[in-house]
Amino acid sequence: MRDFAGRTVAITGAASGIGRAAAAAFAARGAHLALADIDATGLARGADELRTGGRRVLALPVDVSRADDVERFRDEAYGVFGRVDVLCNVAGIAINGLLEDMQLEDWRRIVDVDLWGVIHGCHFFYPAMIRQGGGGHIVNVASMAALGPLPASTAYGAVKSAVLGLSASLRLEAARHGIGVTAVCPGVVATGMSRALRMVSGARGRSAEETRDAIGRMMARFGARPERVAEAIVRAVETGAGVVPVGPEAAALDLLHRGNRRVYDAVMTGVLRAILAGR
Ligand code: NAD
Repeated sequence: MRDFAGRTVAITGAASGIGRAAAAAFAARGAHLALADIDATGLARGADELRTGGRRVLALPVDVSRADDVERFRDEAYGVFGRVDVLCNVAGIAINGLLEDMQLEDWRRIVDVDLWGVIHGCHFFYPAMIRQGGGGHIVNVASMAALGPLPASTAYGAVKSAVLGLSASLRLEAARHGIGVTAVCPGVVATGMSRALRMVSGARGRSAEETRDAIGRMMARFGARPERVAEAIVRAVETGAGVVPVGPEAAALDLLHRGNRRVYDAVMTGVLRAILAGR
Protein backbone atom coordinates (compact mmCIF):
# COMPACT_ATOMS: atom_id res chain seq x y z
CA MET A 1 0.00 0.00 0.00
CA ARG A 2 1.61 3.23 -1.12
CA ASP A 3 -1.20 5.75 -1.23
CA PHE A 4 -2.73 6.62 2.14
CA ALA A 5 -4.94 9.49 0.96
CA GLY A 6 -8.50 8.81 2.13
CA ARG A 7 -7.50 5.53 3.81
CA THR A 8 -8.32 4.82 7.46
CA VAL A 9 -5.54 4.05 9.91
CA ALA A 10 -6.38 2.79 13.42
CA ILE A 11 -3.69 3.23 16.07
CA THR A 12 -3.58 2.22 19.73
CA GLY A 13 -1.25 4.02 22.13
CA ALA A 14 -1.77 7.16 20.05
CA ALA A 15 -1.57 9.71 22.89
CA SER A 16 2.22 9.61 23.20
CA GLY A 17 5.53 8.59 21.71
CA ILE A 18 5.59 6.17 18.78
CA GLY A 19 1.79 5.93 18.45
CA ARG A 20 1.38 9.68 18.37
CA ALA A 21 4.22 10.06 15.84
CA ALA A 22 2.68 7.30 13.69
CA ALA A 23 -0.65 9.16 13.72
CA ALA A 24 1.10 12.33 12.53
CA ALA A 25 3.02 10.42 9.84
CA PHE A 26 -0.13 8.81 8.37
CA ALA A 27 -2.01 12.12 8.69
CA ALA A 28 0.73 13.87 6.70
CA ARG A 29 0.03 11.35 3.92
CA GLY A 30 -3.68 12.15 3.88
CA ALA A 31 -5.12 9.32 5.99
CA HIS A 32 -8.16 9.51 8.25
CA LEU A 33 -7.42 8.33 11.79
CA ALA A 34 -9.07 6.18 14.46
CA LEU A 35 -6.99 6.74 17.59
CA ALA A 36 -7.15 4.95 20.94
CA ASP A 37 -5.32 5.32 24.23
CA ILE A 38 -5.94 4.86 27.94
CA ASP A 39 -4.82 8.47 28.44
CA ALA A 40 -8.00 10.28 27.38
CA THR A 41 -6.61 13.79 27.94
CA GLY A 42 -3.38 13.28 25.99
CA LEU A 43 -5.31 11.54 23.22
CA ALA A 44 -7.84 14.36 22.87
CA ARG A 45 -5.03 16.94 22.72
CA GLY A 46 -3.15 15.00 20.03
CA ALA A 47 -6.32 14.36 18.01
CA ASP A 48 -7.22 18.07 17.98
CA GLU A 49 -3.82 18.89 16.47
CA LEU A 50 -4.45 16.40 13.66
CA ARG A 51 -7.98 17.59 12.76
CA THR A 52 -6.94 19.82 9.90
CA GLY A 53 -7.73 20.03 6.20
CA GLY A 54 -10.96 18.00 6.39
CA ARG A 55 -9.24 15.02 7.98
CA ARG A 56 -11.59 12.96 10.12
CA VAL A 57 -10.11 11.84 13.45
CA LEU A 58 -11.90 9.53 15.88
CA ALA A 59 -10.31 9.59 19.34
CA LEU A 60 -11.54 7.00 21.82
CA PRO A 61 -10.39 6.31 25.39
CA VAL A 62 -9.54 2.59 25.32
CA ASP A 63 -7.77 0.22 27.67
CA VAL A 64 -6.28 -2.34 25.26
CA SER A 65 -6.09 -4.95 28.02
CA ARG A 66 -9.93 -4.98 28.05
CA ALA A 67 -11.60 -6.94 25.25
CA ASP A 68 -14.83 -4.94 25.46
CA ASP A 69 -12.92 -1.65 25.06
CA VAL A 70 -11.12 -2.83 21.93
CA GLU A 71 -14.34 -4.28 20.51
CA ARG A 72 -15.98 -0.87 21.02
CA PHE A 73 -12.99 0.79 19.31
CA ARG A 74 -13.47 -1.49 16.30
CA ASP A 75 -17.23 -0.84 16.22
CA GLU A 76 -16.82 2.95 16.45
CA ALA A 77 -14.05 3.01 13.84
CA TYR A 78 -16.18 1.01 11.39
CA GLY A 79 -19.25 3.11 12.33
CA VAL A 80 -17.44 6.34 11.44
CA PHE A 81 -15.24 5.25 8.52
CA GLY A 82 -16.86 2.09 7.17
CA ARG A 83 -13.47 0.39 6.85
CA VAL A 84 -9.99 0.21 8.38
CA ASP A 85 -7.04 -0.15 6.02
CA VAL A 86 -4.17 -0.15 8.51
CA LEU A 87 -4.16 -1.23 12.16
CA CYS A 88 -1.16 -0.30 14.32
CA ASN A 89 -1.04 -2.02 17.71
CA VAL A 90 1.37 0.32 19.47
CA ALA A 91 0.10 0.70 23.07
CA GLY A 92 2.46 -0.82 25.58
CA ILE A 93 4.19 -0.54 28.93
CA ALA A 94 7.59 -1.67 30.19
CA ILE A 95 8.32 -3.47 33.46
CA ASN A 96 11.95 -4.49 33.85
CA GLY A 97 14.20 -6.07 36.45
CA LEU A 98 15.36 -9.45 37.69
CA LEU A 99 12.89 -12.31 37.70
CA GLU A 100 13.25 -12.83 41.48
CA ASP A 101 12.14 -9.23 42.06
CA MET A 102 9.05 -9.45 39.83
CA GLN A 103 5.67 -9.82 41.50
CA LEU A 104 3.02 -11.91 39.80
CA GLU A 105 1.01 -8.70 39.54
CA ASP A 106 3.83 -7.22 37.41
CA TRP A 107 3.68 -10.24 35.09
CA ARG A 108 -0.10 -10.01 34.82
CA ARG A 109 -0.02 -6.30 34.05
CA ILE A 110 2.57 -6.52 31.27
CA VAL A 111 0.96 -9.60 29.71
CA ASP A 112 -2.44 -7.87 29.89
CA VAL A 113 -1.30 -4.70 28.14
CA ASP A 114 1.58 -5.71 25.84
CA LEU A 115 0.34 -9.14 24.76
CA TRP A 116 -3.43 -9.17 25.31
CA GLY A 117 -3.55 -5.64 23.90
CA VAL A 118 -2.12 -6.89 20.60
CA ILE A 119 -4.27 -10.05 20.69
CA HIS A 120 -7.40 -7.94 21.22
CA GLY A 121 -6.45 -5.63 18.35
CA CYS A 122 -5.89 -8.54 15.95
CA HIS A 123 -8.90 -10.51 17.22
CA PHE A 124 -11.39 -7.71 16.63
CA PHE A 125 -9.97 -5.88 13.61
CA TYR A 126 -8.51 -8.67 11.44
CA PRO A 127 -11.82 -10.51 10.76
CA ALA A 128 -13.43 -7.14 10.01
CA MET A 129 -10.62 -6.36 7.57
CA ILE A 130 -11.26 -9.71 5.87
CA ARG A 131 -15.03 -9.02 5.75
CA GLN A 132 -14.53 -5.61 4.16
CA GLY A 133 -13.01 -7.39 1.17
CA GLY A 134 -9.43 -8.03 2.25
CA GLY A 135 -6.39 -5.89 1.69
CA GLY A 136 -4.72 -3.73 4.28
CA HIS A 137 -1.98 -4.06 6.83
CA ILE A 138 -1.47 -4.80 10.53
CA VAL A 139 1.61 -3.42 12.30
CA ASN A 140 2.41 -4.77 15.75
CA VAL A 141 5.06 -2.90 17.70
CA ALA A 142 7.34 -5.40 19.45
CA SER A 143 10.90 -4.45 20.51
CA MET A 144 14.55 -5.27 19.96
CA ALA A 145 14.03 -7.39 23.11
CA ALA A 146 12.23 -9.83 20.78
CA LEU A 147 15.22 -10.01 18.40
CA GLY A 148 17.82 -10.74 21.07
CA PRO A 149 17.21 -11.43 24.77
CA LEU A 150 18.13 -8.59 27.12
CA PRO A 151 19.20 -9.25 30.71
CA ALA A 152 16.85 -8.17 33.54
CA SER A 153 14.09 -8.13 30.98
CA THR A 154 12.38 -11.53 31.18
CA ALA A 155 8.82 -10.22 31.30
CA TYR A 156 9.28 -7.59 28.60
CA GLY A 157 11.24 -10.05 26.45
CA ALA A 158 8.53 -12.67 26.91
CA VAL A 159 5.65 -10.48 25.79
CA LYS A 160 7.54 -8.84 22.94
CA SER A 161 8.76 -12.24 21.68
CA ALA A 162 5.15 -13.40 21.76
CA VAL A 163 4.12 -10.35 19.72
CA LEU A 164 6.85 -11.16 17.19
CA GLY A 165 5.71 -14.81 16.98
CA LEU A 166 2.04 -13.87 16.70
CA SER A 167 2.85 -11.42 13.91
CA ALA A 168 5.03 -13.88 11.99
CA SER A 169 2.35 -16.61 12.06
CA LEU A 170 -0.52 -14.26 11.30
CA ARG A 171 1.49 -12.90 8.36
CA LEU A 172 1.38 -16.38 6.76
CA GLU A 173 -2.38 -16.68 7.21
CA ALA A 174 -3.25 -13.09 6.29
CA ALA A 175 -1.43 -13.11 2.97
CA ARG A 176 -4.29 -15.04 1.34
CA HIS A 177 -6.58 -12.08 2.13
CA GLY A 178 -4.05 -9.59 0.81
CA ILE A 179 -3.44 -8.35 4.36
CA GLY A 180 0.17 -7.67 5.29
CA VAL A 181 1.52 -8.10 8.82
CA THR A 182 4.66 -6.51 10.23
CA ALA A 183 6.41 -6.71 13.60
CA VAL A 184 8.31 -3.47 14.15
CA CYS A 185 11.16 -3.91 16.63
CA PRO A 186 12.57 -0.59 17.82
CA GLY A 187 15.76 -0.12 19.82
CA VAL A 188 15.88 2.66 22.42
CA VAL A 189 13.41 5.47 21.67
CA ALA A 190 12.99 8.73 23.57
CA THR A 191 9.29 8.67 24.49
CA GLY A 192 6.97 8.85 27.47
CA MET A 193 8.13 5.32 28.27
CA SER A 194 11.19 6.82 29.94
CA ARG A 195 8.77 8.15 32.60
CA ALA A 196 6.23 5.31 32.55
CA LEU A 197 8.86 2.55 32.88
CA ARG A 198 8.54 0.39 35.99
CA MET A 199 11.80 -1.02 37.36
CA VAL A 200 11.60 -3.72 40.03
CA SER A 201 15.36 -4.19 40.71
CA GLY A 202 18.11 -1.83 41.76
CA ALA A 203 21.50 -1.79 40.02
CA ARG A 204 24.97 -0.35 40.59
CA GLY A 205 24.18 0.41 44.23
CA ARG A 206 21.03 2.31 43.28
CA SER A 207 17.49 1.58 44.45
CA ALA A 208 14.93 0.38 41.90
CA GLU A 209 13.47 3.91 41.67
CA GLU A 210 16.91 5.50 41.19
CA THR A 211 17.71 2.87 38.54
CA ARG A 212 14.45 3.64 36.76
CA ASP A 213 15.24 7.37 36.79
CA ALA A 214 18.76 6.71 35.45
CA ILE A 215 17.41 4.52 32.63
CA GLY A 216 14.74 7.12 31.90
CA ARG A 217 17.40 9.84 31.58
CA MET A 218 19.48 7.56 29.33
CA MET A 219 16.45 6.83 27.10
CA ALA A 220 15.56 10.50 26.86
CA ARG A 221 19.16 11.49 26.04
CA PHE A 222 20.31 8.73 23.69
CA GLY A 223 17.04 7.31 22.36
CA ALA A 224 15.96 7.78 18.75
CA ARG A 225 13.13 10.18 18.05
CA PRO A 226 9.71 8.48 17.83
CA GLU A 227 9.30 9.99 14.35
CA ARG A 228 12.02 7.63 13.16
CA VAL A 229 9.97 4.61 14.27
CA ALA A 230 6.84 6.18 12.77
CA GLU A 231 8.57 6.46 9.38
CA ALA A 232 9.67 2.81 9.69
CA ILE A 233 6.04 1.86 10.36
CA VAL A 234 4.84 3.71 7.26
CA ARG A 235 7.61 2.16 5.16
CA ALA A 236 6.73 -1.31 6.44
CA VAL A 237 3.15 -0.85 5.23
CA GLU A 238 4.44 0.44 1.89
CA THR A 239 6.90 -2.41 1.34
CA GLY A 240 5.16 -5.25 3.18
CA ALA A 241 8.23 -6.12 5.28
CA GLY A 242 7.71 -8.87 7.87
CA VAL A 243 10.15 -7.90 10.63
CA VAL A 244 11.61 -4.41 10.91
CA PRO A 245 14.40 -3.66 13.40
CA VAL A 246 14.63 0.10 13.97
CA GLY A 247 17.92 1.67 15.02
CA PRO A 248 21.51 0.39 14.95
CA GLU A 249 21.26 -1.30 18.36
CA ALA A 250 18.22 -3.30 17.25
CA ALA A 251 19.94 -4.34 14.01
CA ALA A 252 23.15 -5.28 15.86
CA LEU A 253 21.27 -7.33 18.45
CA ASP A 254 19.39 -9.15 15.70
CA LEU A 255 22.57 -9.93 13.74
CA LEU A 256 24.59 -11.07 16.75
CA HIS A 257 21.82 -13.23 18.17
CA ARG A 258 21.16 -14.95 14.86
CA GLY A 259 24.86 -15.17 14.08
CA ASN A 260 26.32 -16.73 17.21
CA ARG A 261 24.21 -17.40 20.28
CA ARG A 262 27.20 -18.47 22.42
CA VAL A 263 28.97 -15.17 21.81
CA TYR A 264 25.68 -13.34 22.30
CA ASP A 265 25.11 -14.99 25.68
CA ALA A 266 28.68 -14.21 26.77
CA VAL A 267 28.27 -10.54 25.82
CA MET A 268 24.92 -10.18 27.58
CA THR A 269 26.08 -12.05 30.68
CA GLY A 270 28.95 -9.56 30.87
CA VAL A 271 26.50 -6.68 30.44
CA LEU A 272 24.37 -8.04 33.29
CA ARG A 273 27.43 -8.47 35.53
CA ALA A 274 28.39 -4.85 34.89
CA ILE A 275 24.85 -3.64 35.54
CA LEU A 276 24.63 -5.54 38.81
CA ALA A 277 28.04 -4.48 40.14
CA GLY A 278 27.55 -3.23 43.71
CA ARG A 279 24.25 -5.03 44.15
P1 NAD B 1 4.85 5.88 25.42
O1 NAD B 1 4.72 5.65 26.89
O2 NAD B 1 5.26 7.25 24.95
O3 NAD B 1 3.50 5.49 24.66
C1 NAD B 1 2.74 4.37 25.03
C2 NAD B 1 1.28 4.74 24.96
O4 NAD B 1 0.52 3.58 25.28
C3 NAD B 1 0.91 5.84 25.96
O5 NAD B 1 0.19 6.87 25.33
C4 NAD B 1 0.06 5.10 26.98
O6 NAD B 1 -0.95 5.91 27.59
C5 NAD B 1 -0.53 3.99 26.13
N1 NAD B 1 -1.02 2.88 26.94
C6 NAD B 1 -0.39 2.28 27.98
N2 NAD B 1 -1.16 1.32 28.49
C7 NAD B 1 -2.30 1.31 27.74
C8 NAD B 1 -3.49 0.54 27.79
N3 NAD B 1 -3.70 -0.41 28.72
N4 NAD B 1 -4.45 0.79 26.87
C9 NAD B 1 -4.29 1.77 25.93
N5 NAD B 1 -3.20 2.54 25.86
C10 NAD B 1 -2.22 2.30 26.75
O7 NAD B 1 5.88 4.79 24.92
P2 NAD B 1 6.38 4.39 23.46
O8 NAD B 1 7.84 4.24 23.55
O9 NAD B 1 5.80 5.25 22.41
O10 NAD B 1 5.77 2.92 23.37
C11 NAD B 1 5.02 2.46 22.27
C12 NAD B 1 5.36 1.00 22.01
O11 NAD B 1 6.70 0.92 21.59
C13 NAD B 1 5.21 0.09 23.22
O12 NAD B 1 4.58 -1.11 22.83
C14 NAD B 1 6.65 -0.17 23.62
O13 NAD B 1 6.81 -1.40 24.26
C15 NAD B 1 7.34 -0.14 22.29
N6 NAD B 1 8.77 0.12 22.34
C16 NAD B 1 9.27 1.25 22.94
C17 NAD B 1 10.65 1.44 22.98
C18 NAD B 1 11.26 2.65 23.63
O14 NAD B 1 12.50 2.66 23.85
N7 NAD B 1 10.52 3.69 23.94
C19 NAD B 1 11.52 0.48 22.42
C20 NAD B 1 10.95 -0.65 21.83
C21 NAD B 1 9.59 -0.83 21.79
